Amino acid sequence: MPHQSMNVSGVEVTPLCDAVGPMGPAIRRPLAELFPGSGLQDEPWVLHFHCYLLRDAAGRLTLVDTGIGGVDSPASSWAPVPGTLADELAAVGVAPADIGTVVLTHLHSDHASGAVVDGAPAFENARYVLQRAELDAAQDATLDAFVTPIKGQLHVVEGQAEVSPGVHVHFAPGHTPGHQIVRVGEVAMTGDLVLHPSQLDDPAVRYAYDDDQEAAVRTRAEVLGGLRAERAILATAHFSDPFLRL
Ligand SMILES: [Zn+2]
Ligand SMILES: [Zn+2]
Repeated sequence: MPHQSMNVSGVEVTPLCDAVGPMGPAIRRPLAELFPGSGLQDEPWVLHFHCYLLRDAAGRLTLVDTGIGGVDSPASSWAPVPGTLADELAAVGVAPADIGTVVLTHLHSDHASGAVVDGAPAFENARYVLQRAELDAAQDATLDAFVTPIKGQLHVVEGQAEVSPGVHVHFAPGHTPGHQIVRVGEVAMTGDLVLHPSQLDDPAVRYAYDDDQEAAVRTRAEVLGGLRAERAILATAHFSDPFLRL
């Protein structure tokens, strides 16, 4: 079921809960290894997988991230269960064709797989927003799975951009080369800028699956510092509570 939505600057922000569960055995590691320096004990880590639906006052719909995808998804080798994004959208009365803009924070398989269904764009009327650096770094399997099927609808941006009225993307590299976050009013949808709450207490806590660990720490510290100064609301991909005010 979708989590409770909130209204911010005239935009309704609805967290869609694509899946809940632990990482599969293929990539599961103890928390102390996944987050070196965190001091976390080895306890089960149950992730939520959130996408966010934005509905502005004019009825325009933007989707931030597309989740795990179906049973044959590239994420199926490690994700806990298939994603339920289509059901989550239906639960709030939205059909895929209604979506005008899709923002992919990055091209990891638990954020991008739902962008494509049966080798075709899942959102036939949407522009798909991706950072230039993410596109440039994409390798063969990623290109085949996520980029080639949507290439006719790609909207490539560099750095900061307004992708729909009131909806902005900001470049936040490190987790991947072209990772981006999304802002609407005081809400920041942070993708994989933070994976675990321990990184809010200490942004220097690394994550084993960040592509560039040093850049990720720098970006996390800088972006979280700015968000904390404005007491922004984080909308995270993987925490159990989708919204969290800093
Ligand atoms: Zn959830
Ligand atoms: Zn990721």
